[in-house]
Amino acid sequence: MNRRQLLRSSGFGLLGSRVARAAVRRPGNSEASAPGAASKGLQLSEYQPKSMLQVPGTHVRTPRFPVVDIHTHLTWSKKVTNGVALAPEREILGTPEECLAVMDRKNIHSLINLTGGYGSGLAETVKKYDRAHSGRFITFTEPSYELFLQPDYPKLQAQAIEQAHRDGARGLKILKTLGLYLRDNITTGKLIKIDDPRFDPMWDACGQLNMPVGIHVSDPVAFFTPTDRFNERYEELSNHPDWSFYGKDFPSNAELLESRNRIIARHPKTRFIVLHVGNFAENLANVSENLDRFPNMTVDIAARIGELGRQPRTARSFFDKYQDRILFGTDATPHGDEFPQQLFNDRLYEIYYRFLETDDEYFDYAPANTPPQGRWQIYGVNLPESILRKVYNANATRELQITI
Ligand SMILES: [Zn+2]
Repeated sequence: MNRRQLLRSSGFGLLGSRVARAAVRRPGNSEASAPGAASKGLQLSEYQPKSMLQVPGTHVRTPRFPVVDIHTHLTWSKKVTNGVALAPEREILGTPEECLAVMDRKNIHSLINLTGGYGSGLAETVKKYDRAHSGRFITFTEPSYELFLQPDYPKLQAQAIEQAHRDGARGLKILKTLGLYLRDNITTGKLIKIDDPRFDPMWDACGQLNMPVGIHVSDPVAFFTPTDRFNERYEELSNHPDWSFYGKDFPSNAELLESRNRIIARHPKTRFIVLHVGNFAENLANVSENLDRFPNMTVDIAARIGELGRQPRTARSFFDKYQDRILFGTDATPHGDEFPQQLFNDRLYEIYYRFLETDDEYFDYAPANTPPQGRWQIYGVNLPESILRKVYNANATRELQITI
């Protein structure tokens, strides 16, 4: 038996290649500015403190089990007006080939492209991704809001879901358009409520066709408070002022969530994957309450490990209790450099794997020099294999009725 065989038979070969543990190296002072340089007047945007903690760090190159990422954006509407997608044509954000390279390196079996659109754009997307690379890509459809003013919109929209199903869509995605952008006259007028009855036939059609609804309503709760010195996401909101929903005619975060809950209650046969940890990762007690109330609700963790990882004990209990209802998702977007917490690349997935699989302390939740969502670090939740398997793929394959 040579050394390699010995390592493999003892399990160290696998550990050595998949996961590497090492003392974390911290950069020295060589890149610092001139000795004794005063920090007077340092801009917050220039402040990039390096942690001096000396704790073990783990590099998790590949996940314990193959991954189904329920939440990615590989295509996007070519026409968006005041936050409302208004054309079937799709812009390609990442080609199947460039996605597959990352998928193969990071053991990602399938990517779910939530923003597949509708009509001809959807059909083309399914052909280019799902049909050309069977099982590796799954596409969801989206509402045809440009039909919204037609008197028989409720019926037309339900029919559009049926057509999308025939064209190969496996679920419906609702962007935060509903509740925050769609208005009486589509892009102008009063905001439409999430539980507007005109959408009831659409929710029902999804139930009948067994298409889960991936729904994003509201946003981080800090986006609904003033962008001032007390706001924990001040820098993020300063970088993206249009993400603030404070003031104007916007409903509160609570109103949006209540409106969403009414549709989940009203359509018990329709399954809702409530994205971004039920859109209230800051309050897992609230998400738990909703999961207890609604058997037709599951959640994903996309773009919220920054929230989960700064409350690791509460998050770990949440994973333990709802281990059958939490799906792996990232919100990954190829070339989305503006949002490092969503940038589709190897490093992003490695951070998710590290968060789920290790008990590492105080590490970055996004591949960026400055934490993009808020100035904090995260801790791993160190899930056991039985839960990892469910979160990485088993819960998603059950919801999507696929095998991998
Ligand atoms: Zn998303």
